Amino acid sequence: MLGPALEAQLRPHDLTFRHFPQSFEVSSLGGWLATRSGGHFATLHTHVDDFVESIRAVTPRGPWESRRLPGSGAGPSPDRLLLGSEGIFGVITEAWMRLQDRPRFRASGVARFPTFEAGATAARVLAQSGLWPSNCRLLDATEALITGAGDGSAHLLLIAFESADHPVDAALARAAVLVADHGGTVEPAAPRRAEEVGQEADAADRWKATFLRAPYIRDSLVGLGLINETFETAITWDRFDAFVAGIRSVTEDALRSVGAWPGLVTCRLTHVYPDGAAPYFTVIAPGKRSGRLEQWAEVKESVMEALVAGGGTVTHHHAVGRDHRPGYDRQRPDLFAAQLRAAKRAVDPGAILNPGVLIDP
Ligand SMILES: Cc1cc2nc3c(=O)[nH]c(=O)nc-3n(C[C@H](O)[C@H](O)[C@H](O)COP(=O)(O)OP(=O)(O)OC[C@H]3O[C@@H](n4cnc5c(N)ncnc54)[C@H](O)[C@@H]3O)c2cc1C
Repeated sequence: MLGPALEAQLRPHDLTFRHFPQSFEVSSLGGWLATRSGGHFATLHTHVDDFVESIRAVTPRGPWESRRLPGSGAGPSPDRLLLGSEGIFGVITEAWMRLQDRPRFRASGVARFPTFEAGATAARVLAQSGLWPSNCRLLDATEALITGAGDGSAHLLLIAFESADHPVDAALARAAVLVADHGGTVEPAAPRRAEEVGQEADAADRWKATFLRAPYIRDSLVGLGLINETFETAITWDRFDAFVAGIRSVTEDALRSVGAWPGLVTCRLTHVYPDGAAPYFTVIAPGKRSGRLEQWAEVKESVMEALVAGGGTVTHHHAVGRDHRPGYDRQRPDLFAAQLRAAKRAVDPGAILNPGVLIDP
């Protein structure tokens, strides 16, 4: 069941699953569960994990189905073992998921900051405030420029609230006070005239439109001979500033060393937590006429090494797959890998499911 079909089935009931990864159009509920997908909303329920009630999978040894429970403390969760298993334990065929009423109330604004670090501090304070904004996305000035959200003169924090139950203007007003306390100036989105609904009226709209088009734009840029890739991670706030600066410079150095410079390395925060954030980097650089895959592979290897060495993760929501496998091997505990191998042997003794994904059986 792909994202649009899922939402189309819920719409007549005024319900939504409200999980919108950038790949929403072409990815499936089973795939989201198998990869621990991260949705579009910045705080609180960030990953699909938070919406699972029960999962059914078919393994080579037979079906595996958890009980439908709103919560349970009965030992390690069978669902948690399937979440992020990337198909190595079985094929997920059914799931009971928590749905939500469709939001009816919305309020949004954009805050400008002189430095990325100041914007990150404001994002941290918002993440720790208990307001749980649906959007709390910090764009560095270059990211703001190339997505049309800004003119490149400031770092932008896109803030939004939504609810199915109550007006959220008070939450936005409180967020504006917190942001102002940390050097940001908030411009609330102007109320829309009827003819403007659905149009790209403000910075947040322009950013969202570019976000949705980005995978298509990427294909065009690659067609023009550029390297255009992204990578994402997560890190706790205490290490945030040094980590982001370090990753930026490792990426730029790596691009230089493969002859793909001058280029652009931009950063935004896709998700914020009370204890940390998920920085997302975009790279646009001139590639060699032939050999861009090799150029990127070298850059990616250096980046992955730096992400793990700096205490981050090789992926916050893009999953491991074959791309991130070398970094994943370095970041997980060895004993955990042994447990995964044993768990796989129990359900897939012939190791026929996705060999080489997550572990070498
Ligand atoms: C342009 C782009 C943007 C993206 N944006 C996001 C984003 O915003 N958030 C995010 O989380 N991810 C994102 N992704 C990564 C990816 O789309 C997600 O991880 C998505 O959840 C994968 O779902 P899928 O159905 O496409 O699975 P696939 O890509 O088809 O499969 C992924 C893995 O899961 C396994 N798998 C798939 N379905 C099942 C199943 N039913 N049972 C068991 N195993 C299964 C496959 O074997 C494979 O190992 C993006 C990817 C691209 C290319």
